[in-house]
Amino acid sequence: MKPNRRVVIKVGSHVLSEKGSIAKIRMLALVELISKLKQNGYDIILVSSGAVSAGYTRLPLDRSIVANRQALAGIGQPYLMKMYQEKFHIFDILCSQILLSADVFEFSEHIEHAKRAIDILIANGVVPIINENDTVSVEELVFGDNDRLSAHVTHYFDASLLVILSDIDAFYDKDPHRYSDAKRREVVTSISKEELEAKHTPNSEFATGGIVTKLQSAHFLMERDKEMFLASGFDLSDVKSFLIDGIHKGGTLFRS
Ligand code: ADP
Repeated sequence: MKPNRRVVIKVGSHVLSEKGSIAKIRMLALVELISKLKQNGYDIILVSSGAVSAGYTRLPLDRSIVANRQALAGIGQPYLMKMYQEKFHIFDILCSQILLSADVFEFSEHIEHAKRAIDILIANGVVPIINENDTVSVEELVFGDNDRLSAHVTHYFDASLLVILSDIDAFYDKDPHRYSDAKRREVVTSISKEELEAKHTPNSEFATGGIVTKLQSAHFLMERDKEMFLASGFDLSDVKSFLIDGIHKGGTLFRS
């Protein structure tokens, strides 16, 4: 299925940061990709982590403490946006900051309010950049690096596809960093209960750590007839060929 025009792209902090600061060249490549996608008729909503890393470059507080990470997000979020603004400006694109707390999605009225603003931004060619409001809600900082938030954004703001740009280039039948014979799954049409709950069994061979919140996001979307594409955020050629040329080379497509 070719996705409709509205696509959510989520980029994680591993991709956006490098040795404790923001990876500017990777950010530029991402912004250039978004510019190309817009030229090809897509409307893009970006969900971006990276506020804590950006804050740490200004004030090196101990990041193992949650309250410090909240404070760092407060410092870093405007710097992150400034960097995005500069990069989008090169391509003559306006971007906008939207900070959401996870409970927005518990109230239909709140969803409607946020959606109205996002629709106006998109209708005017602006790229909304969404992040969790970390200073007041710690969920992302403690659990999921925005994976869950981006799935909700995709569903409730009427996108058809979530693209997760990760430090891993696909979903494998087992953790490729631990097993050299792991095989890439090209298309996943169902996710087992065992895979979804793998975080409770840390020695599970097929799914651990950050991949579990991605599987949970994929499951959430597949149950709602939407799709998720997991691909590398370090090398954008797979996502480019998937979305622009319609060729599925690398990456994993989750669809029911
Ligand atoms: P990101 O920073 O992009 O959000 P994470 O590092 O949190 O991504 O999660 C991806 C990591 O999950 C991979 O680097 C990999 O080590 C691990 N992983 C565990 N099981 C799998 C699997 N079956 N397929 C792919 N990655 C897996």
